[in-house]
Amino acid sequence: MSFAFHILGTSSSGNCSLIEAGGTRVMLDAGFQGPRLEASLEALGLAAAAVDAVLITHEHSDHCVGLASLLRRNPALKVFANRETARRIQGTLKVRPAWQLFETGTTFELRDLRVTSIPIPHDAADPVGFAVDCPGAAGAPARRVTWLTDLGHVTDVVRHHAALADVLVLESNYDDEMLELSRRPPHLKQRIRGKHGHLSNLAARDLLTGLSEWRASELCLGHLSKECNRTVLVEEAMREVRELRPDLRVNVFDPLEDRPLTIT
Ligand SMILES: [Zn+2]
Ligand SMILES: [Zn+2]
Repeated sequence: MSFAFHILGTSSSGNCSLIEAGGTRVMLDAGFQGPRLEASLEALGLAAAAVDAVLITHEHSDHCVGLASLLRRNPALKVFANRETARRIQGTLKVRPAWQLFETGTTFELRDLRVTSIPIPHDAADPVGFAVDCPGAAGAPARRVTWLTDLGHVTDVVRHHAALADVLVLESNYDDEMLELSRRPPHLKQRIRGKHGHLSNLAARDLLTGLSEWRASELCLGHLSKECNRTVLVEEAMREVRELRPDLRVNVFDPLEDRPLTIT
């Protein structure tokens, strides 16, 4: 069975990825405006109708703004979210999608895939990350893709799931000094730094260096803030991680370019 994980983009201005495994195509978050979302799928040779389902982490627009346009082109699209997230998003939609509700923290089957929703601390109704177990390509082992963005601090559950990922997408949102020096109003700085805001570069590093055993072969650092972060600062923060895990492939997503990446 084939396996491909396409990160179409991840930054504070939009998050969207697509898993193709065993004949199933599942989107993780749909945080691009319609035209960009379509162009991203087109670049993979796919139409919106080729997507079987979308998993939504939370109701912030950088994770779900493209849902309306996806549903226009693919009304049968299954949309997975927990009840509170679905309720908030439904209020912004003109149509009612085929909601597939799950309880936060549970595991469910999605055709060939197994999906676990992971509670995360963030200022949304009921935000989650996802761990998706995918069947491997012929003769290859199964892979677990774990998507963890938008978290104000690291919990034991987050640590547990970070350690179990084969492909780990982790937020590295801001550099402390750039945030401090930015023109953002004090209450916004406070929100970003807060227990329900976002992970800084150093917090992301500390999560990784604090893991006693973890098996990821690919680390993707995403959800960088355009205003308060640069890839060079993330690379600098991750130096210790690279030393501890020289076998690990580290990909940092530039919020100024937002180039897609495919992992097979
Ligand atoms: Zn958010
Ligand atoms: Zn976000």
